[in-house]
Amino acid sequence: MRAIAWRNLVLISMASCCLIACESGKSALASSAPSPAQNVPTAAAAKQADTAQSSNRTAKPVVNGVRALQYVKEIVAFGPRYLGSPGHQKAESYLRSHLKNDDLQEDPFTVDSPEGKFQGRNFIAKFPGTKDGIIVIASHYDTNYPLRKTSYAGANDGGSTSALLLELTQHLRGKKLDGYSVWLVWTDAEEAVRGWTHDQDSVYGSRHLAETWEKDGTLKKMKAFLLADMIGDADLNVDRDANSTPWLEDLVLEAATRLGYQSHFFARTGGYDDDHTPFAKRGVPVADLIDFEYGYNNVFWHTPQDTVDKLSPRSIEIAGDVIYETVLLIGERK
Ligand SMILES: [Zn+2]
Repeated sequence: MRAIAWRNLVLISMASCCLIACESGKSALASSAPSPAQNVPTAAAAKQADTAQSSNRTAKPVVNGVRALQYVKEIVAFGPRYLGSPGHQKAESYLRSHLKNDDLQEDPFTVDSPEGKFQGRNFIAKFPGTKDGIIVIASHYDTNYPLRKTSYAGANDGGSTSALLLELTQHLRGKKLDGYSVWLVWTDAEEAVRGWTHDQDSVYGSRHLAETWEKDGTLKKMKAFLLADMIGDADLNVDRDANSTPWLEDLVLEAATRLGYQSHFFARTGGYDDDHTPFAKRGVPVADLIDFEYGYNNVFWHTPQDTVDKLSPRSIEIAGDVIYETVLLIGERK
């Protein structure tokens, strides 16, 4: 109850921010600049710091940000990746060729949008673990359709995280993971085709996947759905997401703390509608790792200024290492 009241307060105080975000695309249901109160460590955060040493294993960075940034450059070089575009086809071929030796499943589906029907396609690469259960790490690879007549190619929004997932394959393949199986999912048609509406003109690929996996029983095996979005920003500040699962958000912070990256996490809180929403609705534990202040006041978001020069390999490393460490911590949970 308190959480609802608190979110209502944020919604009222940040109404203009919410309207801007909701009108123009990826919807931040509530978004708040850091307030003095939020910057004071909470009891939960202090407890998190205390328990950060609870795992005997030493947390180690694994992600190579330079290699990941090279992937971003290659993806952006295809041009815009909106539905039906040549760049979208090239991105599909690129993923296919990178994942050709992995257990890859392609998941085609129809995007029935306000602008007509399109062919969408999710890519799922499966890496087996020793424990019964699945952790999904997801990112969308498409770019925004309404911006198709601009040079917008989503270096951060779609590019950085698609690249991060490719980089993670280097650390997942060729061995049986000590823990749950990890499925990497490149979702399609996350972006609105005309204008973002909750549960309608948005997250087509993840809605399709959540429905499919609900029917075939996969969701029952899913221990967590970790989503990465816009985490290549050189000035990395990952938001706490009020629409994600609290214990999983706490575990993300614990992972960040174990790696010494906590200053990049959770200074702000927002409530995001993103690819994790269809899974959250079906009871899967979810965490959306998103930095929704891309440039001052989010000025680079959904503009042709979302270019590679705004990104840092270090940011992709930090986000990727925290996701990887979170996977390990989930595996260690009793
Ligand atoms: Zn976007």
